[in-house]
Amino acid sequence: MTAKIIDGKALSANILDDLKNRVADCEAHGHRPGLAVVLVGENPASQVYVRNKMRACEKTGVRSIEKILPEDTTEAQLLQTIEDLNNDPEVDGILVQLPLPPHLSAELVIGAISPKKDVDGFHVVSAGELLTGRTGFRPCTPYGVMKLLEEAGCNPEGKYAVILGRSNIVGKPQALMLLEKNATVTIVHSHTPDIAHFTRQADILIAAVGRAKMITADMVKPGAVVIDVGMNRDENGRLCGDVDTKAVMDVAGAITPVPGGVGPMTIAMLMSNTVEAVERNLGLRESL
Ligand code: NAP
Repeated sequence: MTAKIIDGKALSANILDDLKNRVADCEAHGHRPGLAVVLVGENPASQVYVRNKMRACEKTGVRSIEKILPEDTTEAQLLQTIEDLNNDPEVDGILVQLPLPPHLSAELVIGAISPKKDVDGFHVVSAGELLTGRTGFRPCTPYGVMKLLEEAGCNPEGKYAVILGRSNIVGKPQALMLLEKNATVTIVHSHTPDIAHFTRQADILIAAVGRAKMITADMVKPGAVVIDVGMNRDENGRLCGDVDTKAVMDVAGAITPVPGGVGPMTIAMLMSNTVEAVERNLGLRESL
C-alpha cells in the first residue's frame, strides 16, 4: 500500500482563495479585516513566521498591522501595546509571535489580549470555550488538522484517534476537537509506557511531539490516517516531521508531508479566524 498524500499546501491555497471573497463581503458591509502581528526581538525563525503571515494577509486582502518591538521591550510596554491594539477599531485580530524573550511572560501577555481578538486561540477564554463546546476561536494548528482530515475524507466519528503530545497549543485542543467530532481519543506523552501499543490501534494518528522521525512504520495501523505536526531537522539539517514518512507511506492509508502539510494550514486557519472575528462583529456569524 502507498499512502495518499494529504496536500496541505494546496488546501491552504484554496482556503486563502475562498477567504478573499469573505474579506470582500466584510468590506461591502463597511469593514476591512485587520490583523496585528506583534514581534518582540529578532529571533530569525519568528521573523520568517511573521513574514509568512504578512504574505497571507496580502493574498486574502486582510490589512496587516506590524508591531516590531526591540528585544529589551519591558512587560509594561508590551502590555500597553496590546491594550492599544485591543482598543483600536481597525484591528480585529491580535497575534503575539512566540516565543517571547525570556524576561517577558507569554501567559501574562496572551492573557491581556481581548478574547474577541484572540485569533490564535491561546487565551484561557478561548480554551474554555473549546472545552465547553462553544464558539470561541480555535487554536490554528489543531483547527488546520481537522480541515486536513476532512480533506482526506476521514470522518472522525466512531474512529479511534491517538495524539502524541499534550501541549496547550496542539495536543490538548486537538483531543477536544476530535471528541467534538465523536472520535474516541487517547493522548500519549513522555510518561506513557509502550506508546506503540496505542499508536498501532489508531485509525487516526496525530504526532505533535517535536522528535524527528519518531513514528516508525511498525507503530502504525495499516490504512491509518497519519497527521504529522512535528517540525524538526533531520541528521542532514533538512526539515522533517515526527513521522518517518518514507517508511510509514507503505503502511498508512493517508499521510501529511513535512513540509507542505500542517504548516501552511496553521496560517490559513489564522486568516480564517481573523475574518471570522469581523463576521461576528458585523453579525454575519454567531457572536462570542
Ligand atoms: P511541546 O510543547 O514541546 O510539546 C511536546 C509534547 O510531546 C509534550 O506533551 C511532551 O510530553 C511530548 N513528548 C516529548 N517527547 C516525547 C516522547 N519521547 N514520547 C512521547 N511524547 C513525547 O511542543 P508543541 O508546541 O506541541 O509542538 C510539537 C511539535 O509540533 C514541534 O515539532 C513543533 O515545532 C511542531 N509544531 C508545528 C506547527 C505547525 O504549524 N506545523 C505548529 C505548532 C507546533 P510531556 O508533556 O510529558 O513533556
